[in-house]
Amino acid sequence: MKDCHIHWMPLIGPADPPEVFMKKAAKAGIDGGTVMSLPPVSFRPDPEHSQHWKDRLETILEYTSHTPGFHPFFWIDPTEADAFEQISIAAEAGVRGFKCICNHFYPEECLKQFSAIAETNLPIHFHCGILFDHHASSNFLRPLAFEALLQIKNIRFALAHLGNPWVDECILLYAKFQAAMRNVPGVCKMRVFLDLTPGVSRVRRRDALRMLLLSGYADPAADILWGTDNRINDYHSGETIFWHDFDRKIIEEIFAEIHAAPNLYPALPDDLWERITKTNYADFLGN
Ligand SMILES: [Zn+2]
Repeated sequence: MKDCHIHWMPLIGPADPPEVFMKKAAKAGIDGGTVMSLPPVSFRPDPEHSQHWKDRLETILEYTSHTPGFHPFFWIDPTEADAFEQISIAAEAGVRGFKCICNHFYPEECLKQFSAIAETNLPIHFHCGILFDHHASSNFLRPLAFEALLQIKNIRFALAHLGNPWVDECILLYAKFQAAMRNVPGVCKMRVFLDLTPGVSRVRRRDALRMLLLSGYADPAADILWGTDNRINDYHSGETIFWHDFDRKIIEEIFAEIHAAPNLYPALPDDLWERITKTNYADFLGN
């Protein structure tokens, strides 16, 4: 399985050596995924590491050069004055995508920067939903704030956490993006993914997955990613196994619901779990 959402975070101890991290991930059945760089200073000050973008880029590339199957994503603050330089140098240096948390600006304010990322043909992984940070950031991170990305016709991006707690809003926004692509085929070539990483807690997760999979919006099975928000500082295999078991059980129940009333709900592909945890991730990377 691929874990599309693994961080390297400050202030929680050092990163495990690459081989230790890979062993912990393998224990949970994870053989690849995304490792995001350390954050920019606007996310959280980090007294332990240089937060200059060149240093953050170098360290994530160095780390992931020892973790085959795990891909480096560069965490960018697109409001920094040299953001365009960061994008082109990171892309040339070999990152496989960008991470962005719009915690102090609306996505709409950075369309030029996101467009420059789209031009590199690399994906952007956005946090979406409430953020447990120390800023008044929630309005910037509501799903509807991302509707403006519709203006970038070739963008490929993921919204993480199903926009928790605004799950309905996130799923409907996803459906709207799909409709936009159908309305102007060939013009709007964006690709929108939803990353199931918690966020959505165990009590609301069944409803969220039922809404996503049973509403009949165009083919979500192709666009769902799976991740954990785990950290390379100390990858918690048990947590990954817990969410794996939890989500598989819910999805089994959803399949049973469809089989019990096949005329009421859209069919789902038999290989849904494999798509969510493997093949869709390759599409997200652009492989
Ligand atoms: Zn995260």
